[in-house]
Amino acid sequence: MESNPGVSIDLHIHSTASDGTFSPSEIIARAVQLSLGAVAITDHDTVSGAREAISAGIPDGLGFLSGVEITSTPPLPFHCSGSFHILGYAVDTEDVELGRLLARLRAARRDRNPKIIERLNALGIHITLDEVVKASGDAQISRPHIASLMVERALVPTIDEAFDRYLDSGAPAFVEKFQIDPESAMRIIIGAGGIPVLAHPVYLGDIRENSRKSDLEALIVHLKGIGLMGIEVYYPDHPREITEQLSRLARRHDLLETGGSDFHGAIKEEISMGTGKGELSVPYELYTRLKNAADSLKSTRA
Ligand code: AMP
Ligand code: MN
Ligand code: MN
Ligand code: MN
Repeated sequence: MESNPGVSIDLHIHSTASDGTFSPSEIIARAVQLSLGAVAITDHDTVSGAREAISAGIPDGLGFLSGVEITSTPPLPFHCSGSFHILGYAVDTEDVELGRLLARLRAARRDRNPKIIERLNALGIHITLDEVVKASGDAQISRPHIASLMVERALVPTIDEAFDRYLDSGAPAFVEKFQIDPESAMRIIIGAGGIPVLAHPVYLGDIRENSRKSDLEALIVHLKGIGLMGIEVYYPDHPREITEQLSRLARRHDLLETGGSDFHGAIKEEISMGTGKGELSVPYELYTRLKNAADSLKSTRA
C-alpha cells in the first residue's frame, strides 16, 4: 500500500522494555484500537520490546517496524547544548554487532544507577535500588523509574519535579554515563540493516561548530556525510514552522522523513500515542518510504 490517505502512523514509541509503561502487546493493541496505519517500537538501548511484539504477531493491516533509540555524543567538531538522539529503524533485532553495542549501553546504565541512588541518599532522598527494581518489573532501570518511585513515596510531587530538582543534567543527583559517537552508532544501525534517523531535532539546543555558533543545516549535512539517512520531522514539540523547516531540509538533502509521538505511557501523561499533545498527525506515506528504503538497503547487502 503506497499511500493511505488520512491514515496516520506513530514511529516513536517506548515500551516496558525501556522507560515506557505499556508492554509491547499493549502498544500493538492500542495502535489497532486507534486505527493507526503503522507503528515502530523505539526503546532506549534495547530491541527486546520490538522483538517481543514481532514474536507475539503483528495484526494484519498494521504496519510495523522494529526500532531503537540511542543517545550519542554530537559529531565532532559540533557541540549541542541539548540532547542528541539517533533512532534506528527496521534493524535486524538479532544482529550481533548491534546487540553488542546495546548490551554495552545497558551496562553503562546499570553502572550509573547505584551512583544516582547514592547521590539521592546523600541529598536526603531515602530510596534503594532494590526498591526501584521491584517497582519497575523487567524494565531496564533508568531515571524515569527512579523518578516514579520518588513520586510514589511522595518525596516529590511530580516526575517533572524529580527531574528538575534532582535528576536532570546539571541537577545534584545527575550522573554521566558512557555515550557512543554518532558515526559508530549509525554504522552499526546500517550494519544491522537499519535506517539511522536524527531524533527530535528541536531538543538539540544551541548548535556550535568548534566555538562558532552554527545551524541545524550544517549539522545535518555533516551527519549525512557520516551515515544519516533521515530526520524526525513530525514530533509533538515541533511547531508547524519547525516541521515545515525540517521537511524542507530533508527534501533538500535527500533524507527520509519520519515522525512519532515519543509515547511513554504514564511517565509522560501529556503525550498520547498517535496524536502526541493532540495536534500530531504523521502521514502514512512516511512509513511506506522508510520501509522501502530499509528493504532496498537489505537487498543490496544480501
Ligand atoms: P535516562 O535514560 O536514565 O538517561 O533517562 C532519560 C529519560 O528520562 C528520557 O528518555 C525521557 O524519557 C525521560 N525524561 C527526561 N526528562 C523527563 C521529565 N521531565 N519527565 C519525564 N520523563 C523525563
Ligand atoms: Mn525515555
Ligand atoms: Mn529521545
Ligand atoms: Mn524517545
